[in-house]
Amino acid sequence: MPLLSLDHVTLRYTAGGTAAVDGLCLELAPGETLALVGPSGCGKTTTLRLVAGFERPETGTVTLEGRLLSGPDAFLPPDQRRVGMVFQDFALFPHLSVLDNVTFGLDALPRREQVARARAMLELFGLGGFEARMPHALSGGQQQRVALARALAPGPRVLLLDEPFSSLDAALRATTRSEVRRVLKSLETAVVLVTHDQQEAMAFADRLAVMRAGKVEQAGTPEAVYTTPRNAFVAWFLGGTNLVPGSAFGNGARTALGILPLQGEAKGPVLLSLRPESLRLVPDRDVVAVGGALRAEVLSREFQGPGVEFTAGCAGMELTVRGGPESPLRPGDRARLEVTGKAVVLEDPPPDARPPPEVPGVR
Ligand code: ADP
Ligand code: MG
Repeated sequence: MPLLSLDHVTLRYTAGGTAAVDGLCLELAPGETLALVGPSGCGKTTTLRLVAGFERPETGTVTLEGRLLSGPDAFLPPDQRRVGMVFQDFALFPHLSVLDNVTFGLDALPRREQVARARAMLELFGLGGFEARMPHALSGGQQQRVALARALAPGPRVLLLDEPFSSLDAALRATTRSEVRRVLKSLETAVVLVTHDQQEAMAFADRLAVMRAGKVEQAGTPEAVYTTPRNAFVAWFLGGTNLVPGSAFGNGARTALGILPLQGEAKGPVLLSLRPESLRLVPDRDVVAVGGALRAEVLSREFQGPGVEFTAGCAGMELTVRGGPESPLRPGDRARLEVTGKAVVLEDPPPDARPPPEVPGVR
């Protein structure tokens, strides 16, 4: 049985307006970390607010450990839900010490127990000895961990995190994230993490759900969703891709790039996703006039540290191609394009079948 489930939940902020969350179904297993990702405005924060009890769904139910939190005739207020939440700005009480910030939600307990629990939680986050500090005397990463300790001290059944790392700089974000993940896993806390950062989602979560317009487009392990996106939107949102129309004949498809091997099987007209790392550009001078080679021209080159991202013109298409940082290719160079990975068959109809796929800004 799932720990938390949202069953066909709909919420509109204005009567008769568009639904911010639209028939959303989502499940969270005990101890699981789920990342909700999707473009700005797709309903991620609203979903968390529905779970926390800050919003009441128009239709649908929210259930935690078999107990109905929100439903047609039920609505449990936030303080009775055993749900913890940390927001992006993780506002600590500035006039309270670290210890008093963490004991804040524990007022039902005797003071001695409050302090013991808060200390234990701070210790877990590597903040033993910081009890008397005031928030302004802490770094951003330390403040973030105090906010997490505060949310976890009352022992929530689920912890909701809304863009909790986005105000930290890149280096601090990566270390704070893995530290927080380690602590949450050791506590076996179930977590829903909202982020617009796909790398963060893939690194942090056991499972992720890609949202669009108030609905879940696809959910699964990061590996499964990344390697087999259902449609162009998911492929584009998680890592970027190239869309190539083709005609499938089993485990291959005829395309303008030649015959591409497919992951899985299909027949007839298809739209394929070919990831930038499934393509390779080889400088033309390496080639000893290979017959049938795909000729390409480098249109742009973006250095990204561990690699380079090229745009290349080939067979009448503009393709995104990943390369090693040492690649000598520059805009204007001629190159040969090699397909090194398999293409994924998308659910979207190919361009000659109507209507065309709706993909915001495919790179
Ligand atoms: P996300 O967190 O994915 O960026 P939100 O859940 O904040 O998205 O918003 C979903 C939709 O609901 C957006 O269209 C947003 O403009 C709208 N919305 C969010 N909060 C409110 C509000 N308090 N009143 C009216 N509309 C809102
Ligand atoms: Mg949001």
